[in-house]
Order: sequence, then C-alpha cells, then structure tokens
Amino acid sequence: MNEPRTTHFGYQTVDEAEKAARVAGVFHSVAGRYDLMNDLMSVGLHRAWKTFTVAQAAVRPGMKVLDVAGGTGDLARAFARRVGPQGEVWLTDINWSMLTVGRDRMVDDGFLQPAVQCDAEKLPFPDGYFDRVTVAFGLRNMTQKDVALAEMARVLAPGGRLYVLEFSKVWRPLAPLYDLYSFSVLPRLGRRVAGDAESYRYLAESIRMHPDQETLKSMLEAAGLVRVRYYNLSAGVVALHEGWKP
Ligand code: SAM
Repeated sequence: MNEPRTTHFGYQTVDEAEKAARVAGVFHSVAGRYDLMNDLMSVGLHRAWKTFTVAQAAVRPGMKVLDVAGGTGDLARAFARRVGPQGEVWLTDINWSMLTVGRDRMVDDGFLQPAVQCDAEKLPFPDGYFDRVTVAFGLRNMTQKDVALAEMARVLAPGGRLYVLEFSKVWRPLAPLYDLYSFSVLPRLGRRVAGDAESYRYLAESIRMHPDQETLKSMLEAAGLVRVRYYNLSAGVVALHEGWKP
C-alpha cells in the first residue's frame, strides 16, 4: 500500500490531504479580523508592500488580471481602479469566508468584477487568458506550490507577468529580533485581537518553512517563467518575485 504523501502545516508534518482543511480552518477563523490584524502585525507595512507590488505590475486599462488567493481583496481593488471599464479583475480564493469579505469590499468601492472560489492548484481558466497574475501572502499556504505556480504560468498570456508577494528570509542580523516578535508577540496579539493564538502561531511557523528568495526564484523558473527576479522588502521580511511568460 502507498504511504500518504506529507507536507508541512507550520512546523507539523501532515498528510497532503489534511493540509487544505487545516489552512481553511485558519482563514475561516481569522477572516472577520484579517485586515485589522494585518495592520497591527505589520504596523501597516503590508500596505506599502502591496503598493510596491501594484506599481511593479504596471496594470493598464483594458488588461485582464487574476488575483490568486486574493482574500479580502486589497490587490484586486487596486487593479480594478486601473483596468477601466474594458478590463477584467478576477478576485479568487479557496476560502469563502475570505472571498466574501473581498467581494463585498469590491462592491462597496463600486467595482463589479467577478469573484470566484477556486483552488490555485486547479485554476478554472483557459490557457493564456491573463496579462497579469498576482498572489500575495497566499503561496505559503498552498499544499503543492509547484503545481500552483505551474497553473499561474499556464493561464498567463505570452508576455504576461506573474507577481508573488510573500514572506521570505529576513536579513540575518535581524533574525533574532524577528524570531522574538514572531513567536512571542504575534501569538499574543492574535489571542487578544482575534481570540486565536494558534492561527498566528501557524503564520510564524509557515513563514519559517517557506522557500527563501533564491529557492522561490528557481521554482518560478521551473514553472516555465523567464526573466525571473525578486525585490527584498523591509530587509527580506517580504520579497516580491516577478516572472515573465515567454
Ligand atoms: N492576498 C490577500 C492579502 O494579501 O491580504 C490574502 C492573503 S491570506 C494570508 C492567504 C489566502 O490564501 C487566504 O485567503 C486563503 O484562503 C488563501 N489560500 C490558501 N490556500 C489556497 C489555495 N490552494 N488556493 C487559493 N487560495 C488559497
């Protein structure tokens, strides 16, 4: 009999089949307080990281943009402002709690764009459809990251660009301070504000288990993207990777 394939859920090793359900539990739990917690945890820096991503993506009127694992829709709303009436911005997420918050925010801001619940590892879009694909703080949570990246590359049109914004490997001298913050302050903040320390412990652990800058660069290349490069933001706390579809 075949052994079940395993993966990481934070520092735990779990069956691949179990990871998606565990991740779903985290995001159902935090959806209502997700934006507030993001601001508190990153002292507002996540807004600057996303602003940088939007600037690099250089979305123009008429473009088709896919935001994978878009959650509460910060990137999708920024892109919706740029594509104009002829463009399309598809907000997608596997988790309906997060997607519902994101879809409502889009509508509240006056954008009627599609919101689709789907798994990044099986994107329900045709080959070569999008000019830009983005995934912010989502890849880390996916079970088969290589499969998800290959799917994102598949739906990009030739000349289209993928942007992966994700926590990464912090500049070494800052690591002790960053560890203290992640494993002591973060779970306490999670308990007080969101009533959920475990989800924020998972966050800290999943960041440590995520591939570093160079490894992720190789993964984008393995997915068939070219001209792959990355920008370290906030001393490597976060990195933005860019890859082009040939
Ligand atoms: N992109 C948003 C942002 O930057 O604020 C949300 C990021 S949130 C930390 C991670 C999101 O990834 C969650 O909404 C979660 O449901 C989603 N996610 C996790 N696994 C996924 C998968 N396999 N496919 C699509 N979305 C996924």
